[in-house]
Amino acid sequence: MIASILPKVAGIEERHEKYRIRPSGVTVIHQGEVYGRCPRATVYDRLGFEPAPMPGRTVILLEDAGFHELLTADWIRQSPYRLHSEQMGIDCFEVPGITLPAWHCDVCHRQYGRLIPAEQCQLCRQPGNVLHGHIDGILQDIAAAETLYEHKAINHFSFQRIWDHQELPIAYIAQPCCYLIGLKKLLVELTEILLVIKNKMTAQYLDILIEYDVDKDIAYVKEMEHSGYGKRWIGERLPRLVGSAIEEWQKTERYYQQSKEVGKATLPLRPFEQDSWQCDYCLWGKTCWSGYEEEFKDLEENAELGEDFRGVLRDETVLAAEESFVKRKRKELRDNIRKWLKMMECKSGRAGPFTVETTLEVREKIDLEELYANVSHLFGAGGLEQFAKIWKDAHKKNFVETLRVREEKEDKAKVKR
Ligand code: SF4
Repeated sequence: MIASILPKVAGIEERHEKYRIRPSGVTVIHQGEVYGRCPRATVYDRLGFEPAPMPGRTVILLEDAGFHELLTADWIRQSPYRLHSEQMGIDCFEVPGITLPAWHCDVCHRQYGRLIPAEQCQLCRQPGNVLHGHIDGILQDIAAAETLYEHKAINHFSFQRIWDHQELPIAYIAQPCCYLIGLKKLLVELTEILLVIKNKMTAQYLDILIEYDVDKDIAYVKEMEHSGYGKRWIGERLPRLVGSAIEEWQKTERYYQQSKEVGKATLPLRPFEQDSWQCDYCLWGKTCWSGYEEEFKDLEENAELGEDFRGVLRDETVLAAEESFVKRKRKELRDNIRKWLKMMECKSGRAGPFTVETTLEVREKIDLEELYANVSHLFGAGGLEQFAKIWKDAHKKNFVETLRVREEKEDKAKVKR
């Protein structure tokens, strides 16, 4: 009755806030990888490109994260720990070179300026070049030792990847590091952060204990604790997370200034592939990829790549040859295993410590020709063409780039000699 209406209502309610530098919107380049917000999306935002409306389901997911934070805070209050300074406003630091206008902080206004109408309130105005944010709180244990508390509620798969130590949530770590810099200026001598992460699907928690050296800008990730599986030692040093975030905000500003000078958008390269989850969720995805076919056509062909590239390409050809050999061998082996199972009339079995199992998955696909032929009589004049257009419009262009590296025969002969 209302299931289909709710995401639509959420979608209507959503409004895009103007670009500003914010701790929750950090981009960090760590070991050559981009973490947090896509730098190209940030430039689109800075330049005022209209974002696509946020799908209602995403709005609900984001809202849910806020409620998970409140629920966790309630559980903490029932524990021996004390949580205070929730949503306290922090001016972390100035980011040199930023020319954004001053803005009004609604969160501060709810706390301090309620009696003044927001449009006239000067109390809660924030300079555009100061990184301003609100902490989730400060956690105090029974011995009165304090830790900066940051809460995130995330999906099951990301949660699992973090617990399996396949990846650290770099952007989530950089955010409270920024707050610690602001707190130090207020003479609050905190050095540790507890990043508490809730699995929205299973209600499991994990926390990551981080020590941050404000002067050296090094986050030391000490250990992780899971609500069901105990502790895991991490011991990883993450240098320059805040430094990198500052550089990225400054780069965005430079792209903005350059775009103004030349009168058209100057953008950083796309750091992600079109089929990545980042591009899937991006509100500027359509704008970003719309001219990609033309861009690709204009790229140079047969470019001289230089000697440094030679070794990389050779490694790729060697690995590809090994991979194809292994793949072929594996396919032969698997075909044989299938045959043996069929001969033995079984679909699963064991041999010593090894087990084998075959499962049957039924996939359905639409036969478009049959669909058109069968539905044509349901439409009036021109209706079928209209349906075909709607169907076509619903398909988005997907760019799949294939990379092929080959070794030319002549070159091979030279290598052998
Ligand atoms: S579509 Fe992808 S590459 Fe483009 S701005 Fe968005 S996240 Fe970045």
